[in-house]
Amino acid sequence: MDKNEAEELKKKLFNQKENGWKEKSEQERQAIFDYANGYINYMNRSKTEREIIENSEQIAREHGFKSIYEYESLNAGDRVYYNNRGKSMYLAVIGNQNIEDGINIVGAHADSPRLDLKPNPLYEDSGFAYLKTHYYGGIKKYQWTAIPLSIHGVIVKTNGEKINVKIGEDEQDPIFTITDLLPHLAQEQMKKKLAEAIDGEDLNLLIGSIPFEADVSEKVKLNILNILNLKYGITEKDLLSSELELVPAMPCRSMGFDSSMVAGYGQDDKICVYTSLTALMNIQNPNKTAVCIISDKEEIGSMGNTGMESHVFDTFISEILNKLGVNRPNLLDKVFCNSKMLSADVDAGLDPIYASVSEKNNSSYLGRGVGLNKYTGAKGKTGASDANAEFVAEIRRVFEENNVRYQIAELGKVDVGGGGTIAYILANKGIDVIDCGVPVLSMHSPYEVTSKFDLFEAYRAYEAFWKN
Ligand code: MN
Ligand code: MN
Repeated sequence: MDKNEAEELKKKLFNQKENGWKEKSEQERQAIFDYANGYINYMNRSKTEREIIENSEQIAREHGFKSIYEYESLNAGDRVYYNNRGKSMYLAVIGNQNIEDGINIVGAHADSPRLDLKPNPLYEDSGFAYLKTHYYGGIKKYQWTAIPLSIHGVIVKTNGEKINVKIGEDEQDPIFTITDLLPHLAQEQMKKKLAEAIDGEDLNLLIGSIPFEADVSEKVKLNILNILNLKYGITEKDLLSSELELVPAMPCRSMGFDSSMVAGYGQDDKICVYTSLTALMNIQNPNKTAVCIISDKEEIGSMGNTGMESHVFDTFISEILNKLGVNRPNLLDKVFCNSKMLSADVDAGLDPIYASVSEKNNSSYLGRGVGLNKYTGAKGKTGASDANAEFVAEIRRVFEENNVRYQIAELGKVDVGGGGTIAYILANKGIDVIDCGVPVLSMHSPYEVTSKFDLFEAYRAYEAFWKN
């Protein structure tokens, strides 16, 4: 066999893993960049789960979706959603086929690692006022000092009045920061392990330094409370019933001389929220009912009534069965056992600087398309929902027929570590599930990096899955 023939044979037999930008025309690249602009815009309006739900509900309503309570009955083609306490949301486009044959679900999560305020956050020390925090999700604490932070969330008064807070995003707004020690005096700190360099109790947000003009104690704290009282009509006690989150006050931006990437906070997993939500907007009269999940609390174990472990999602699907007029005992279980799902969560992209934690043949690479994880888990697949080969083959077929670029990978080297997603929770209901999301660099940091190519392929992948 000559060299050319051997090259041809290789092309035919090998799993070619090539950079996805290579085959893209100028026009196709422009479509990717245009879509990425929409994503960046959405990210800059949606830094917390509450903002994601608010903006996503608005997008859905603009595309003909109505709350399930606005429907007396449901029919094929209807577009319906349920907003769960402003923090998670489920959407569906009712299919033409009998729902008993199952539904097609794509599920992402809206929450991201951050710093939450403690219930009693405010104190004064040495002429400064501070807010104490409790971090949410897996963070490297040292990454959260000496960067601009904004405050987002709600304060709810006992009379039910809800005050929405968002300070530090507008250029006219002040920002906040957590200070770090100067290197000149950091000899002891610098000897510590990275994980221990910053103590959780030292992640205190600096918020003011002007004393109140009067002869009382805690003048700086009083001055801050006076400002908050004039601005929001609240007292210190009202902070007891607040949910205030600190997130990086840095905008999501296009990145690189070639503008091929996106840098921004919270792409885990808002990138999968945006790609699945915008894909669902394109779905009209699907065969199987198309369902999109935007869940909460994934980063801390999916607990609570807005997390995926709650039964609120089951109730939403039951309500659909009721309003289709088909419900009967055990039908919900049957629907789930016949259903299929892409668990839309980000994947660890191979970072050449830290390549030693990845196994090159089984890593996701930025720019090679949407990343599938047959299983997640850690060290011996512990805790993994391992997708069946039959289901993996079906998803491969859908993607290959629709020319969607995909890669199948693991999170890292076998003995190094691992992670999880909401996949197992839906698999427990009997649904066939595989993880399918976008590879990310600097995951869980204040400034995560993704490829615009993968962003667009995720959008195309979810659309193809629902249209299948
Ligand atoms: Mn995630
Ligand atoms: Mn995560």
